[in-house]
Amino acid sequence: MDFALNDEQRMMIETVRRFISEELKPLEDEVEEKGHLESIHANAIYKKSKALGLFAMNMPIELGGGGLTNLDRILCEEQFGHTTDILIRRAFGNVYEPLLHCKNDQVERWLKPSVEGKRTCAICITEPGAGSDAAGIKTHAKKNDKGWVLNGSKHFISDGEWSDFFLVSAKTGEKEISMFMVDKGLAGFTVGKDQKMMGLRGTPHLELFFDNVQLEDTALLGEVGQGFKLAMGALNVVRLAQVGARAVGKASHVCEMMLSYANDRHQFNTRIGDFQMVQHMLADSVIEINAARWMVYQAAWMLDQGLDAREQIAMVKVHAAETLGRVVDRAVQVFGGMGFCKELPIERYYRDARIYRIYDGTSEIHRGVIAKSALKKGAALFDIHR
Ligand SMILES: Cc1cc2nc3c(=O)[nH]c(=O)nc-3n(C[C@H](O)[C@H](O)[C@H](O)COP(=O)(O)OP(=O)(O)OC[C@H]3O[C@@H](n4cnc5c(N)ncnc54)[C@H](O)[C@@H]3O)c2cc1C
Repeated sequence: MDFALNDEQRMMIETVRRFISEELKPLEDEVEEKGHLESIHANAIYKKSKALGLFAMNMPIELGGGGLTNLDRILCEEQFGHTTDILIRRAFGNVYEPLLHCKNDQVERWLKPSVEGKRTCAICITEPGAGSDAAGIKTHAKKNDKGWVLNGSKHFISDGEWSDFFLVSAKTGEKEISMFMVDKGLAGFTVGKDQKMMGLRGTPHLELFFDNVQLEDTALLGEVGQGFKLAMGALNVVRLAQVGARAVGKASHVCEMMLSYANDRHQFNTRIGDFQMVQHMLADSVIEINAARWMVYQAAWMLDQGLDAREQIAMVKVHAAETLGRVVDRAVQVFGGMGFCKELPIERYYRDARIYRIYDGTSEIHRGVIAKSALKKGAALFDIHR
């Protein structure tokens, strides 16, 4: 068992880390104040990241992506946790794995432009009446002689405002779900309001409405009835990368700030890091971050070995998201009044962290998956010697 990173991985991490601190960090306050990222900045960071070969790192090299293994990808995603969501989306892209199921002319129309950063896509599964129960959607597509007619609605769609097209899950039969690529601007397709959130400032989350939207046959991604599998497959990797690894990155970043403050801040003529009650908060944070990080790496390694990592990723989703929540909460406490004050970014991390336990499957849903599996498989789920 080798836990060491190789030289290439170290260089890659260093490049991403430098890019984030030099190009993205200076934009954080502006996004927070204005509530959006100016397109002039979005274009600039996209061009710079592309020139360094950092755009669409998760996509295959043949398509112009970075061709990273899952482990290498999550090493980068961990660094992405050091800044805000919208800056990462704009700088490094957000190309969803189901797009790799594009065939024939779909490749030139939807897949390649996404990898090149010329078109942006959002993933649309959640509806007002169907969140955790992703199979309970009402949006449906009916076959006609021109293709498919789409009706229904979605909400909470991240990045909807910037997106040129949408990966939409829709019922194509009583129990059959398919996935469609829906271009913005089609007749009957309207974009609703931006649903303001307590955190993730700068990222729009939109309502979408489909009223007899005529789709071509070629809008169907993969096969009829494969939509649920495509969506869940995509979310599995997204959970590990964008939730698990980023949560570890965010928690590490906040913990670093907390340690530095505990060293510098003095009360009662001593640094606050000398107080045992503060030390408990520091120690628990360090322990939990370490555990979460190795869980993330293990799950990525399993994916790279071609192993089924679904249960491992469910465990990562719960543990990393909840670790982040505990670490940012302790950080607010260690920083005292300054932790609550908008002059420092701690309160922003506190707000942003809360969503990690909710999106891409709530902690409750993942605990349910883990418990069901554990009852069925027993020790095989947590003991690698079985
Ligand atoms: C900021 C943000 C961004 C998002 N981005 C996207 C996006 O880009 N695309 C997209 O499709 N969706 C997106 N979502 C939707 C997100 O994935 C859902 O909010 C999430 O899956 C939970 O669904 P819900 O909000 O409907 O909650 P519900 O499913 O209504 O759950 C409410 C509560 O009931 C609990 N609960 C539900 N079922 C069970 C059960 N079986 N056992 C135990 N407890 C249960 C939940 O854990 C939760 O505590 C986003 C949401 C937010 C807030």
